[in-house]
Amino acid sequence: MTETECVVVGGGPAGMVLGLLLARAGVQVTVLEKHADFLRDFRGDTVHASTLRLLDELGLGPEFAEIPHRLVDTITMEMDAGSVTIGLSRIPGGHKHIALVPQWDFLELLATAAAREPSFTLLRNAEVTGLLTEHGRVVGVRYRDRTEHSGEPEENRGSGSTGTEHELRAALTVGCDGRDSTVRAAAGVAPRTFGAPIDVCWFRLPRRDGDPVGNVGRFSVGHLVVMLDRGDYWQVAYVIRKGGDANLRAAGVAALRTEMAGLVPWTSDRLDTIGSWDDVKLLDVKVDRMRRWFSDGLLLIGDAAHAMSPVGGVGINLAVADAVAAARLLAAPLRLSHGVTPARLKRVQRRRRWPAILIQAGQRLVHKAVLGPQLAADPTDRPRATELPRAVKLLGRYPLLQAIPGYLVAVGPLPEHAPSWARRRPAVAFATAE
Ligand SMILES: Cc1cc2nc3c(=O)[nH]c(=O)nc-3n(C[C@H](O)[C@H](O)[C@H](O)COP(=O)(O)OP(=O)(O)OC[C@H]3O[C@@H](n4cnc5c(N)ncnc54)[C@H](O)[C@@H]3O)c2cc1C
Repeated sequence: MTETECVVVGGGPAGMVLGLLLARAGVQVTVLEKHADFLRDFRGDTVHASTLRLLDELGLGPEFAEIPHRLVDTITMEMDAGSVTIGLSRIPGGHKHIALVPQWDFLELLATAAAREPSFTLLRNAEVTGLLTEHGRVVGVRYRDRTEHSGEPEENRGSGSTGTEHELRAALTVGCDGRDSTVRAAAGVAPRTFGAPIDVCWFRLPRRDGDPVGNVGRFSVGHLVVMLDRGDYWQVAYVIRKGGDANLRAAGVAALRTEMAGLVPWTSDRLDTIGSWDDVKLLDVKVDRMRRWFSDGLLLIGDAAHAMSPVGGVGINLAVADAVAAARLLAAPLRLSHGVTPARLKRVQRRRRWPAILIQAGQRLVHKAVLGPQLAADPTDRPRATELPRAVKLLGRYPLLQAIPGYLVAVGPLPEHAPSWARRRPAVAFATAE
């Protein structure tokens, strides 16, 4: 294949949703994904209420229900002075919960649905290395086919200098290749970065009978842990000060176990399952945003346009919403061969920029007002609080107020609906999981 109508770089949530929707509009779309599969752990496994509704609109709700997943409808904040549980029952719409599902299963579901469309192609092991340009316009990509190296270890797959080189020309190139976007670098542009005071260490702990149900956040002086309820295990985000990874590792994995036992005592009976640092993955937290998401023939969406902090776990939701808006605004000009003008691409940015700005502003506020000071505090200098913060008390006392944080996290500003031409009735009726 040397030519297509739209080439999508990256088969993450943004790229797969865009590929599926454009294919349903009859656009010849090719998604290039550098990895052989979607199997990457700790990549973000939350599917929020507005994305669940989108899946229903696309007719994929029953297939999603077949994937082993966990529905979470409460978030508990445990503090030294007590705890408060926030329910999601008051958010609008049919889904009053967040689904926790392995991201690879979610992406496989989208890939399977897209593969039913004759105009869709997914090329795995296809690593984009550069852009094709003509007279200042992007006219496609250069990529390396790494199929013959797909048996190699994860860290070697999808990178390096081996593999056969190809070119793929397209009327539109969309960079959905994430926070370290190659497409963005090849276009010679860089995002504005906002800094973040935290990094996150991810690890798993087994879940036992009698553990709390739903997601748990544990706040204490100098510490913060968020535990995602994955059914048979906890996915633990141990939040540390930016750059604190080296100190943590120098102290040894036993020190991490001791800290966890002090913070969340009911996990003490299973902390020996953190065997070594190989079981702990570091997320270098970034918050950044492109000033301009497009140029002639090129669009950036998802993390490539705006890397999100893990606060609220909203990155996937936002990437999916970007893709829906892009498909709605671009399908017609792509299909009718009008050509996609920069003015059209600007409309995508105009539509999706504000939700990204709003959420990032909220995340930066939480970084500055809560997480930064919380993690900077020395537990030996400062006594543990004996009273809950006022805002938290209010949330506990007036459940109606819980709808506000619930909406912001589980639905988000400007949720997108599937265009009418992309909607389908479910092909098969499946039993509902959980
Ligand atoms: C450790 C971690 C935990 C997270 N936890 C959460 C969470 O719980 N909830 C949440 O909502 N968000 C979470 N996030 C953020 C979330 O993963 C992202 O916001 C979201 O995945 C962005 O989607 P995307 O499609 O824009 O990019 P990505 O998901 O990053 O997908 C980019 C894709 O492009 C591919 N790619 C990259 N370069 C190339 C290339 N040159 N050629 C071809 N393909 C390429 C990659 O392999 C990847 O498949 C987390 C992120 C990390 C790193």
